[in-house]
Amino acid sequence: MTKYPYGEQDPYSRVDLIASTQVHSDQYTVDQMPVLSARVSHAQSGKTGEDPKADKRLMDYLAEHLHMTPFEHQSVSFKVVLPLFVAREWMRHRTQAYNEVSMRYSSDPVGKFYYPAVWRKQAARNKQSSAGEVDDQAGCTKILQDAYEHALSAYHKLLEKGVCREQARSIIPVGNYTEFYATANLRNWFGFYKLRIAPDAQWEIRQYARCIDEILEELWPESWDSLKV
Ligand SMILES: Cc1cc2nc3c(=O)[nH]c(=O)nc-3n(C[C@H](O)[C@H](O)[C@H](O)COP(=O)(O)OP(=O)(O)OC[C@H]3O[C@@H](n4cnc5c(N)ncnc54)[C@H](O)[C@@H]3O)c2cc1C
Repeated sequence: MTKYPYGEQDPYSRVDLIASTQVHSDQYTVDQMPVLSARVSHAQSGKTGEDPKADKRLMDYLAEHLHMTPFEHQSVSFKVVLPLFVAREWMRHRTQAYNEVSMRYSSDPVGKFYYPAVWRKQAARNKQSSAGEVDDQAGCTKILQDAYEHALSAYHKLLEKGVCREQARSIIPVGNYTEFYATANLRNWFGFYKLRIAPDAQWEIRQYARCIDEILEELWPESWDSLKV
């Protein structure tokens, strides 16, 4: 399953579902894990599936009353391609496991740059936020493009002079794309989603939170729905 945070026309941004918990039982689905694991406390897991409406009610109850551990049995791994400045925000989420491409090993990631489809104005009241659109959209894109080209050319000049990749990369702008694998359980994906879909989160990371939402909705509709309610 693949989603494109900035649309399919953006050549780099994407979220790929790589792996998720699989079930080796004819009896239960992974989406039933919160119910199965919650009912074990009363030695009643076997009731799961007898009354699907009661199962869903239990899942809603667990989420509503913050009994969150039953949502920790479903693991999901994504491969994510995203601008460095979005990755910095993303990697503040410490409950995910990460492995990222290294610009020390390879210069392949260098030069894959993010271009905003819309340039936003600085918000007047919230110093961290944006509001409305600037007038000269094309002019802003040209400034960004010139800066990227200049940085890329300087990077290659440093390499030509024999400078190592691990130092030459210091010239790379935070609009450069990076990629990593991220793994977490459903509870922690919900924690990420809740913070990063909120209106005060930056638009660029909200698009990734939306993709995570769409994928988890398709993967496990009942448990994901209970968390979101
Ligand atoms: C809109 C927005 C603006 C932000 N602005 C800034 C900013 O200006 N500067 C800045 O530095 N950060 C900023 N952040 C990042 C923010 O402070 C958090 O680091 C980030 O949202 C991750 O949240 P988390 O710690 O809950 O997630 P995770 O790291 O995934 O942790 C999940 C939960 O696990 C528990 N946990 C994890 N690690 C620990 C620990 N060491 N000790 C105790 N409990 C732990 C906590 O209950 C935590 O909520 C911003 C985030 C958002 C959403």
